[in-house]
Amino acid sequence: MTPLFVPGPVDVDEEVLMAQTQPMIPHRSAEFEEIFHRTEGKARKLFFTDTRVFLSASSGTGFHEAAVRNLVSGKILSCANGAFGKRWYDVAVTNGKQVDLLETDWQEPITPDLAADALKGKGYDILTIVHNETSTGLMNPIKEIAAAVKDVSPDTLVCVDAVSSFSGAEMKMDDWGLDLVLTSSQKCLALPPGLSLCGVNDKAMARAEKVEHRGWYFDFIRLEKHRTTNSTPATPALSLINALDVQLDRIFAEGIENRFARHSAMAERCQTWAVENGLDLFAPEGYRSQTVTTIENTRGIDVGELNAFLIERGMRIAGGYGKLKERTFRIAHMGELTVEDVNALLSAMEDFLKQ
Ligand code: PLP
Repeated sequence: MTPLFVPGPVDVDEEVLMAQTQPMIPHRSAEFEEIFHRTEGKARKLFFTDTRVFLSASSGTGFHEAAVRNLVSGKILSCANGAFGKRWYDVAVTNGKQVDLLETDWQEPITPDLAADALKGKGYDILTIVHNETSTGLMNPIKEIAAAVKDVSPDTLVCVDAVSSFSGAEMKMDDWGLDLVLTSSQKCLALPPGLSLCGVNDKAMARAEKVEHRGWYFDFIRLEKHRTTNSTPATPALSLINALDVQLDRIFAEGIENRFARHSAMAERCQTWAVENGLDLFAPEGYRSQTVTTIENTRGIDVGELNAFLIERGMRIAGGYGKLKERTFRIAHMGELTVEDVNALLSAMEDFLKQ
């Protein structure tokens, strides 16, 4: 495997890759229903929900759109402290929704107090927020924010983008009172891109029943009708669902808590290394990501040259994202990677810096 220290697509295990080579079967068949039933059940376990998980042949952004179309007839509060929070806001705006933006400096978390102040007395239908901002390497305190929302505005549904944290950092949908959690296949789940997963609870489903013009492809009510008969409204991404089936078994064999701990150990190693090597971390202490470390390029490293050096050694990191392109670079540590892989990367980076 060539370690890819980029925030998706990431390396995929051989067994999981091979699962995609299974022959096609008709999706309207008892064989597919069995695969769907088994896989959706396992996915619910990983979402820590007893409710439901929709599987879609799209990337995660599809469910950004689904959330605003299914759950909103009034207003949205869209939290953004990075490029992907901003994207969800843009998705809401381009769907013609009424949306207020709660934006902080990108080096600051969205705190429960900020969210509570913005929500009070406003009657928002949903709050959208990114758990792990892949652009900044900052993790928002979702559990505490969800508790604050329930306190000040219990009818506001909490919708969480867990695209770059899901299965790499703790997220307990039912216990934390999250109404919608979405993710993509190509990050910590370590699957090829093209599949997205979305947990939607009963409260959100009851809301969707009352919302008009939910569209077709991502209509939660239509998806649910099919889910309960172990099917999908349109043709599913069969090969990716086969891969997910196998990968979920591998994840449970590792142990979910062990998986979180492995990601946390890799993050710790990268963060310590950056500081020891005279570099600053973009995200503030206490809010640093477990799955991607965003480093301020305080040493003026030529990231293009660094990556060329790493690629010769079979590794690759990521540059800064969007407006942080020049200012930062990113080491993603998600999916199948281990602390040993991270050590090999950091040692190669030290060799480059010595040059
Ligand atoms: N949200 C976050 C936090 C992301 O990191 C990304 C992609 O990197 C997205 C959303 C978009 O996901 P996708 O490319 O699967 O649509």
